[in-house]
Amino acid sequence: MTTLQGRRAVITGGGTGIGLACARDIAAQGAEVILMARNLERLQQAASEISGARAVQLDVTEDASVEAAFTEAREGGTIDILINNAGIAAASAFHKTTIEEWRRIQAVNVEGLVRCSLAVVDDMRKADYARIVNIASIAGLRGGAYISPYVASKHAVVGLTKSLSLEYAHTQLTVNAICPGYVDTAIVDNSIANIMAKTGRSREEALAELTKNNPQGRLITPEEVAEAVTWLCSPLSASVSGQAIMVSGGAI
Ligand code: NAP
Repeated sequence: MTTLQGRRAVITGGGTGIGLACARDIAAQGAEVILMARNLERLQQAASEISGARAVQLDVTEDASVEAAFTEAREGGTIDILINNAGIAAASAFHKTTIEEWRRIQAVNVEGLVRCSLAVVDDMRKADYARIVNIASIAGLRGGAYISPYVASKHAVVGLTKSLSLEYAHTQLTVNAICPGYVDTAIVDNSIANIMAKTGRSREEALAELTKNNPQGRLITPEEVAEAVTWLCSPLSASVSGQAIMVSGGAI
């Protein structure tokens, strides 16, 4: 069954990892997908492997870039689905965190998400169907040592999700967040390399550090996250809004 036939979906950070898995899954449900991120070549390569997909360059930290990208995406029809997935992570002790590093993470994970949401929400609040799904993190629901700017950014995403859900509850727009544990993507590859460099641990030991809080004892796959995202986009999920749903191997 193709539940998203005729819908148009924008996926930020859609050329890699979780975003790419979402793009594939949403396209498989019949939607036209538009992949957005900074690396256009990588986006075009990804889009070429998805039926009907388009690649549009976007830097979520730049007003002009967001305006241009969403104007291009709207050519020929409105945007029905926004997956706010673009995000960055970094790890360091709080006492070594600079204000520039703090701002760099908030600029992408929070302000970037707000910019992209503002670009679509006026149309979406008037539409007969609309979905925003924010890729937050389990770090949006609990604290985490050595990743405080990231944790704060993802708590902000969860707070925004709940507030927008209430604000638009009288419309057909639903706003939800997915909160994954550690997923097998480039972000986790970087975290493993960081742990190895800072602690001298082996790759296996570094991986074990990341998976120890997942009761299933493994990394989550991007496809498992995408499955939950696509479900939130389906017409029959219309009564689910304001939720922060963990995809975390049973971590609660
Ligand atoms: P990823 O492959 O590194 O994806 C991040 C994506 O964001 C990239 O495609 C990147 O593309 C894009 N991006 C970064 N900065 C951007 C900017 N300024 N403007 C536009 N796009 C930008 O890692 P991922 O794990 O799939 O991450 C996707 C989301 O999942 C993130 O929000 C992350 O916080 C969240 N998440 C990940 C995990 C995990 O364990 N992997 C767990 C929980 C939540 P360009 O570099 O081409 O711009």
